[in-house]
Amino acid sequence: MDDCNLDLQHNLTAAWGAAVNYLAWSARADTPPETIRNVFQAFTRHITCEECILERDQRIEQVIRQWNETSRP
Ligand SMILES: [Zn+2]
Repeated sequence: MDDCNLDLQHNLTAAWGAAVNYLAWSARADTPPETIRNVFQAFTRHITCEECILERDQRIEQVIRQWNETSRP
């Protein structure tokens, strides 16, 4: 908790944005959710704050839920 500061949060936001950009041009409707999860985890690998990681994981689950809904035939 002590090691979480504004820099780290900006870090997470920037890494998240980079992952979203990457997926915007690389992901297709048939991209498996595991791939989406892997991309977000790879882009945010440097985040060490447990709270930020928890928040990240919740966001990933949200994105994957939306992904499943929009890519369903
Ligand atoms: Zn944090």
